Amino acid sequence: MDFLRPASWEEALAAKAEHPTAVPIAGGTDVMVEINFDHRRPEYLLDLNRVELLGEWEVGEEDVRLGASVPYTRIMEHLRAELPGLALASHTVASPQIRNRGGVGGNLGTASPAGDAHPALLAAGAEVEVESVRGTRFIPIDAFFTGVKRNALQPDELIKTIHVKKADGPQQYSKVGTRNAMVIAVCAFGIALHPETRTVRTGIGSAAPTPVRAREAEEFLNAALEEGGFWDSGRIITPSIAKQFADLASAACNPIDDVRGTARYRRHAVGIMARRTLGWTWEQYRGGARTLEGAA
Ligand SMILES: Cc1cc2nc3c(=O)[nH]c(=O)nc-3n(C[C@H](O)[C@H](O)[C@H](O)COP(=O)(O)OP(=O)(O)OC[C@H]3O[C@@H](n4cnc5c(N)ncnc54)[C@H](O)[C@@H]3O)c2cc1C
Repeated sequence: MDFLRPASWEEALAAKAEHPTAVPIAGGTDVMVEINFDHRRPEYLLDLNRVELLGEWEVGEEDVRLGASVPYTRIMEHLRAELPGLALASHTVASPQIRNRGGVGGNLGTASPAGDAHPALLAAGAEVEVESVRGTRFIPIDAFFTGVKRNALQPDELIKTIHVKKADGPQQYSKVGTRNAMVIAVCAFGIALHPETRTVRTGIGSAAPTPVRAREAEEFLNAALEEGGFWDSGRIITPSIAKQFADLASAACNPIDDVRGTARYRRHAVGIMARRTLGWTWEQYRGGARTLEGAA
């Protein structure tokens, strides 16, 4: 196995162009497991750890530009206000050791349906900037996951930056696991309220072949909130609206039975998480978030 160690982004792109089968390695928390278990024996490993820009982030007017290798710990420490959903999701990843190494670029690279960053990115409405020597592409997160552990990257492309809109309202992330740490999700749910556009977006993890949005649930809720004047009044969402939202979120799942849980359980749990996270975010909106908006 050859170990390629580019010192810059340009060198990394050139190496990937020359060796499209080279496997990039960032934190290595997925790649090294696969190599250790002999699930993968790549001819080339492309070590991205010397490429500084991948470990940096920038908070702009509208969005956060998150370098692909920024570890979860940094997101939790520095981007909690701007990216609350992703920070909460980061908290649930594995253990401090894994969170110090692993990042969102690696999560997207693996593209597991259970990846914890994915529901938060779907709910926030992220865009993945990928690059090759041929040029740059911006892939909307909704189009990024193409199958079980498959993504929209071309063989010569690398993930450079994840662009995530700064939160304009409350966000939440909920995960069911068999214990409280070091656990891959049985299923997960992310939600983001976007008061500026009066929309709610969602993301479901580990309950379909890819991470997905609960689109019908979103459409139903967006119409119900608008028709009932909820955004202006800030009044409590009625139990019937919350229930319909939860039922539609359950219906958006297409899960399987596996060692972590049954399909039936996953559907049920996603409905519960959808109702709860809607309740939590709406309470935040009714309180601080809405008052602040009104005062601004
Ligand atoms: C004990 C343990 C517990 C875990 N628990 C969780 C958990 O709770 N939740 C969770 O979501 N994940 C979990 N994981 C999986 C892993 O930690 C995450 O997927 C993490 O985000 C991977 O990031 P990384 O930087 O380590 O990726 P790496 O292992 O370096 O890479 C992962 C994949 O992404 C590709 N890649 C990396 N960077 C780039 C790039 N810039 N461009 C293109 N491709 C790239 C690699 O080639 C590889 O295919 C766990 C792993 C372990 C070992």
